[in-house]
Amino acid sequence: MVRFTVLASGSKGNSTVVTGGKTRILVDVGLSSRELFRRMKLANEDPSTLDAIIITHEHSDHVAGLAVTARKLGIPVYFTQATHRAWVRWISPRKQMTYAQWIEQCRQQAAARMAEADAPIPEDCDPEESSETVSELAASADDDSSDATPKKRKPAAEKDPTALPALQYFEAGKPIQIGDICVSPFTIPHDAADPVGFVFQAEGVRMAFATDLGYIPPNVKAQLKSVDLLYIESNHDLEMLRDGPYPWSVKQRVLSRVGHLSNDACATYLESEYDGQAAYVVLGHLSESNNLPELARIAAERALNGRASLLANRLLLAPQHEPLAAISF
Ligand SMILES: [Zn+2]
Ligand SMILES: [Zn+2]
Repeated sequence: MVRFTVLASGSKGNSTVVTGGKTRILVDVGLSSRELFRRMKLANEDPSTLDAIIITHEHSDHVAGLAVTARKLGIPVYFTQATHRAWVRWISPRKQMTYAQWIEQCRQQAAARMAEADAPIPEDCDPEESSETVSELAASADDDSSDATPKKRKPAAEKDPTALPALQYFEAGKPIQIGDICVSPFTIPHDAADPVGFVFQAEGVRMAFATDLGYIPPNVKAQLKSVDLLYIESNHDLEMLRDGPYPWSVKQRVLSRVGHLSNDACATYLESEYDGQAAYVVLGHLSESNNLPELARIAAERALNGRASLLANRLLLAPQHEPLAAISF
């Protein structure tokens, strides 16, 4: 069986399950493990049957729940070496600390001082300041420690927040086999350490995965040929982005050659270069601030409908806040 299940798509989190034969791969973990498992349940996917996690790049909307999920499931994580290094840097101990862990550390430090010298509890441990101190990762950090009730902890994670059950490196341009699925990683133009897209192949079905890319260079076009499913970014409407709420510097970043693909850029590709082979074209990573699903859909529909030979292509939009119904082959 071959199946493609988008659990979340967009700047608030990305995660997809790719199934081929007996193998299930989770692509990116941009949701907390709790939310990820909730979505998997909604999509009739069983977390305990996942065999591996593979990461496109280290931006938080793709890795926010990575370490906790991998440890909970006890499965290997596949990265490029540069992406792994960037992720390790990003997940520094200070950033990794949850509110509950930080409070506990303050208590222990205060207790140690009291024990030594009857010193007063230091003012720099005011919990009211915690929102500044506690990391952006807190929300997605270990669910087991996110409330005040003492629960069992995972010792490896406490010693090293970057601890993973197993780590596997891959390189863009060098296909790897994960169980029954052949994974071909390819370089994409995006402002991360070593970002990649993938073609997943199982049972003769090819599925291309290409979001988070500033434009579509020739190497990516070559990878997107002869696929049965094309998952491609349609991030923003150019006018909405220009007139929208983002600061100028962020607008420049999104628009740049290492930013995100606009509705127009996606449509231009579909109209002029796409080979029309896919049974499904799935638009993903839609911006909630600078796009509307209908604008993305209309742009892609126009592009596909302009080509009479492509009428069989089914167009779907991957949502941010709920899973897209599984696509089966
Ligand atoms: Zn992203
Ligand atoms: Zn990104």
